[in-house]
Amino acid sequence: MAVNIKIQPIETSKIDAVDFNNLSFGSVFSDHMFECDYVNGSWQNPTVKPYGPITLNPSAKIFHYGQSIFEGMKAYKDKDGGVFLFRPTDNCNRLNISAKRMMIPEVPEEIFMAGLKNLLEIDNNWIPNTEGSSLYIRPFIFASGEGFHASPADSYKFIIATAPSGAYFSGKVKVLIEEKYARAANGGVGFAKAGGNYAAQFYPTQLAVEKGYHQVIWTDDNTHEYIEEAGAMNIFIRINDTLITSPTSDRILDGITRKSIIQIAKDKGIEVKERKISVHEVVEAAKDGTLKEMFGAGTAAVVSPIATFGYQGTDYDLPELSETYASLLKKRITGIQTNKTDDPYDWRVKVL
Ligand SMILES: *Cc1c(COP(=O)(O)O)cnc(C)c1O
Repeated sequence: MAVNIKIQPIETSKIDAVDFNNLSFGSVFSDHMFECDYVNGSWQNPTVKPYGPITLNPSAKIFHYGQSIFEGMKAYKDKDGGVFLFRPTDNCNRLNISAKRMMIPEVPEEIFMAGLKNLLEIDNNWIPNTEGSSLYIRPFIFASGEGFHASPADSYKFIIATAPSGAYFSGKVKVLIEEKYARAANGGVGFAKAGGNYAAQFYPTQLAVEKGYHQVIWTDDNTHEYIEEAGAMNIFIRINDTLITSPTSDRILDGITRKSIIQIAKDKGIEVKERKISVHEVVEAAKDGTLKEMFGAGTAAVVSPIATFGYQGTDYDLPELSETYASLLKKRITGIQTNKTDDPYDWRVKVL
């Protein structure tokens, strides 16, 4: 299917106002966005247009029933100006997994990829090529159709917006193992990137922040005895030389960084286990010195090492190792993403 995309270029670029040496994460937006509407049963009118406000009626169902899903991915530029994506069809597939669960119509891969490619082409100058920087890409779909009755909308908007983003330095991350709240439940929508999942995390996270922590480590909703995710990232725990991560489920998001790390670690000869991790086991490992590393994994930070975790009023510090799995794995994955190393997996896709 050839996708015919209408291009409406911006009159005056905003790029000169941007300090590319001081980029934060996701707060400056590129000149253009991609927009496509689902009306009368099909995706129509794919358009690249200036980034700007969208008009919706107060009865649009996104406001009332939260039919809204998103993705997060990045475009990287190498020293020769080549532009690359990392496993982009996985993001498209996952968007459609989220869509199905939230009764949102799926987007054909041809539209997703053509929209993305046209957007990157027109905003090529917005893709940073300095160390650690990239163009963060946010595809999302929401219910634009009207009605106060609690049922799926009849129309939707698919938008892709982008934001040049700098290297992500998280510093010494202190996390709190959650004992009361849960981000997801069996039979629920934890595996989907549904907007409401994140709104529901804000309050427990704020409570943790008030106690001096940066993030919450989510545990299972039933017993709170098993570790599931680190904020909006998947979690990895190294005990001795074994890397352990919770298995994906209804409640755990199937992260692309997570599965890439599993593959890379295995190929480096590291023992990797996808199994349930009990809080008890992590606390015991911290006490007897076998707990070596804990880190979050996701597109934004790639790998985010945890320095301290709190549980039932006690803080446990992780050791400061000179060589960590976290930095080894991050180096390999970002090397592939930015076209600095070979890519035996064919994960890297050249788009421009
Ligand atoms: C997006 C996300 C992740 C990470 O997924 P990636 O594909 O690696 O970016 C992990 N957990 C949650 C809850 C997420 O929303």
